[in-house]
Amino acid sequence: MSSEASAPIVIVGGGAAGFACAEAFREAGGTDPLIIISADDRAPYFRPDLSKELLAGDKPAADELADDDWFADNDVDLRLQSRASRLDAEAHTITAGAGADEQTVQWSRCVLATGSSAARLPVPGGDDPRLLTIRSAADVERIIAQVNGTGPVAVVGSGFIGCEAASSLRARGIDVTMVSLEIQPQRDRLSEFVSAMIAGWLADAGIDFRGSRSVEGIEFTDDGAAVLLANGERVEAAHILVAAGARTTTELAASAGLRVTNGGIHVDSSMRSTADGVFVVGDLAFADNVAAGRPLRVEHWDDAQSMGVIAGKVMAGKRAEWDGVPGFWSTITGETLQYVAWGDGWDEVTARRSDSGISVWYGKNGTIVGLLTHRHDDDQERGKKLILSGASFPPK
Ligand SMILES: Cc1cc2nc3c(=O)[nH]c(=O)nc-3n(C[C@H](O)[C@H](O)[C@H](O)COP(=O)(O)OP(=O)(O)OC[C@H]3O[C@@H](n4cnc5c(N)ncnc54)[C@H](O)[C@@H]3O)c2cc1C
Repeated sequence: MSSEASAPIVIVGGGAAGFACAEAFREAGGTDPLIIISADDRAPYFRPDLSKELLAGDKPAADELADDDWFADNDVDLRLQSRASRLDAEAHTITAGAGADEQTVQWSRCVLATGSSAARLPVPGGDDPRLLTIRSAADVERIIAQVNGTGPVAVVGSGFIGCEAASSLRARGIDVTMVSLEIQPQRDRLSEFVSAMIAGWLADAGIDFRGSRSVEGIEFTDDGAAVLLANGERVEAAHILVAAGARTTTELAASAGLRVTNGGIHVDSSMRSTADGVFVVGDLAFADNVAAGRPLRVEHWDDAQSMGVIAGKVMAGKRAEWDGVPGFWSTITGETLQYVAWGDGWDEVTARRSDSGISVWYGKNGTIVGLLTHRHDDDQERGKKLILSGASFPPK
């Protein structure tokens, strides 16, 4: 163990937020030794492509966030396939690895960027190892190898990852049935109007969407599998892909006594947690957003990167705060949606259509809180400004 004066900064997690943090720290002139501990089997890569181009077979591998030389050139010690198991926020140490490889490292600052994992179904058979999920590049390689052009595939869940995965498998010519608790994809989150649009795309692609279905169990047989539904239906399939949402990886933070709120760890707008020297970024952060005036927890690529950049700059002695409107994109059956919103609810919605596309505006308590566009991306910048300024709903 090194003494704390010369101790490195340790970033736990080699995803969007962890890598952005390391990069921003160096770019901001930070010279302390840097270690990234990552459970991944490969260097940081672009995760959003997994359920899109990669699963559809349009790309052979996920794009790396940095080329091979970057880590050596920037004096960043990237430790792959290493899982951190214990964080001691008092002693400023972290323990990673298992058995003979277990190591405890002293840190000067520690950044938790452990992101999320795919949620399991809480039903009999829901933990069967033959179930497919999609969170990492290794998961996609496994899906492609296991499915190997054969169907049908049952996709459980109609969030963005479920819809994207169903559409990518369908693009490979595989028969896909989706089952979901929702009547139509993302009805509560995005409105009846938007969910009907997504349902139309899935139907046009030949995906059999079965909504308002509750899964009661999963069964594997010698020649396939079945999703058992509460209404008595049995959806037979060769493979089952569970896309039942993401679950933040909170165990490490909890091991240090950090309290989990709203699925994440509360941090200020500069990503500092209540534990001295511990920052939390990305999906795991329930972060104060200066513009919103309240903490938000989001699971979006660009925001994970922004939070990583903020923590990196702050550790290098600069000022930085989270003050943007969160946002994401999704591509389903070739149709791209762009969304910016505070993401914590709306009570009014209005859709503006043109020949080229559509903008769906969301309001809450009379102010604009979100915008979703389809082929109307020119509205995005305006939308961000109106959301930031708390402009009145509906937009003029
Ligand atoms: C299939 C898929 C498609 C997506 N598409 C989009 C999209 O189109 N648009 C969008 O905005 N967002 C998308 N997202 C969400 C986006 O990828 C996440 O919000 C983002 O990756 C979060 O970044 P993160 O760094 O917080 O966590 P992650 O990227 O999940 O990285 C977490 C890292 O922590 C590591 N880790 C976890 N626990 C430990 C531990 N104990 N020790 C060591 N390492 C650990 C993991 O191995 C991983 O390297 C998608 C996500 C998935 C899974």
